[in-house]
Amino acid sequence: MIFNSIINNQKVDTKQFHEIRSVSNGELLGKVSTAGEKELDAAVNAARTALESGPWSNTTPHDRSVILGKVAATIAHNAPELARYEALTTGGTFARITSVDFPILIDIFTKMADAVMRYPFVNHLSHNPLLGITHATVVKEPVGVCGFITAWNFPILLFGWKLVSAIAAGCTMVVKPAPTTPLSTVRLAELLMDVLPAGVLNVICSDDNSLGQKMAEHPGIDKIAFTGSVATGKKVQKTAAETLKRTTLELGGKGAGIVCKNANLDIAIPGALFGVYFNSGQACESGTRLLVHESLYDDVVTRLVNLSKKVKVGDPMEPGVNMGPIGNKMQFDKIMNYIDIAKKEGATIACGGESLSIAGSEAGHFVGPTIITNVTNKMTVAREEIFGPVLCVIPFKDDAEAIAMANDSDFGLSAGVWNSDLLEAQNIALKLKAGTVFVNDWHMLRTDAPFGGFKQSGLGREIGEDSIAAYTESKTIHTLFENDPDKKLFWKSVIPSETL
Ligand code: NAD
Repeated sequence: MIFNSIINNQKVDTKQFHEIRSVSNGELLGKVSTAGEKELDAAVNAARTALESGPWSNTTPHDRSVILGKVAATIAHNAPELARYEALTTGGTFARITSVDFPILIDIFTKMADAVMRYPFVNHLSHNPLLGITHATVVKEPVGVCGFITAWNFPILLFGWKLVSAIAAGCTMVVKPAPTTPLSTVRLAELLMDVLPAGVLNVICSDDNSLGQKMAEHPGIDKIAFTGSVATGKKVQKTAAETLKRTTLELGGKGAGIVCKNANLDIAIPGALFGVYFNSGQACESGTRLLVHESLYDDVVTRLVNLSKKVKVGDPMEPGVNMGPIGNKMQFDKIMNYIDIAKKEGATIACGGESLSIAGSEAGHFVGPTIITNVTNKMTVAREEIFGPVLCVIPFKDDAEAIAMANDSDFGLSAGVWNSDLLEAQNIALKLKAGTVFVNDWHMLRTDAPFGGFKQSGLGREIGEDSIAAYTESKTIHTLFENDPDKKLFWKSVIPSETL
């Protein structure tokens, strides 16, 4: 199957293609047309035209609410096909993608279809005596042409939660998915050609990173919404600063979960493993450091290891499989390298830590569920994002030490507390420096709540009603209704009073 660029609601054959294969068995899934600067310019022009003239430029929040509902329906109707691409290109299990990712994705659009109707796109300010009798209206206008650059771990979700806010705000888009996982994004954009006016949503693909760089440079793009690593996020921010583009950055994490003295271990043990093994650990908000009260440490480690050994690794399409392959060879090598570093720095691999071979999935790169002990919070594996099924377990003496350790990180995307006393848990949650804190759970992303990072985990928030603001510019319109110039207090500083 051919996956062409989509520009101005037309499939554009760029005459050059790169192949996308299953990360599990190597099967050819599709040929993707490789875009370059010419297609980028065409996509930006189409997006600009749709923004400034044509049917999209005149849409009301009500119109966009109807469209958001149609996007939700389109995704729901085509979920099995889209989920198959998602599973085979990322290694995420088909079961999880259909039962977790897609319900979330559909819910994001459904909730926004409602929220956009209530959003204050026009706000009349109350009377301000200081300025004399002047009426002010604050209008929220679309920020403009948005460039989306997404990562490979949850491609359709990352695309969807940018798309939803951009549509709500009335923006237009140029989207570049990650080089290895473009299929679900391109296919969804094809399906949405019947829903969105021409030029609103344009998708261009590349087999390398240069197109992303060109997008960050492009003077015709007003905002970049980026999801990826901290290192690339910093580059994008610097490049975008040249044209003062607005940016939203969703970056990496090193989430710490605190297992307090009175935690319910029947919840905390499976919950912590859910926190780290979800999508084989390739989730930015994963809980990858588990800080455990010293009185529970040995028991917790034994139970984590026993349960980890039962997690089934295999073909992502096979029912009953809990973890599929790692998303790509480069990421697999990175994980294995971190496991080597952990050993060299004196940590202990309590279980896993090895590459697995799975019959029928010979092309896949599998890493067994891995628990690392004898770790300190200063070691490399406790400080850097591994992005794999690897949990570092670290003991602490009291809550103050646990909070300090959790916050001693360059990242601030997620954190968690495992504690049966919910008041104590709330108090700890308030002290954790993270954009999302989970209490006695993990990965609970409400589609009406903002998501994003403190510190180097990002800039801005996505999802939720607040996310519309990041896709708008505020314009204040001051209107004078007073016809008596003598009542204009400020004018008198410049215009002689007797002339007024
Ligand atoms: P990456 O930074 O390597 O790539 C992300 C995207 O940026 C890709 O589309 C890539 O082609 C593009 N890109 C690369 N170099 C670029 C440049 N110089 N200019 C512009 N674009 C460029 O990240 P990745 O390996 O694809 O994704 C994994 C990372 O993403 C992890 O760190 C993970 O934590 C993070 N992530 C964050 C969130 C979040 O919401 N905070 C969600 C998912 C993933």
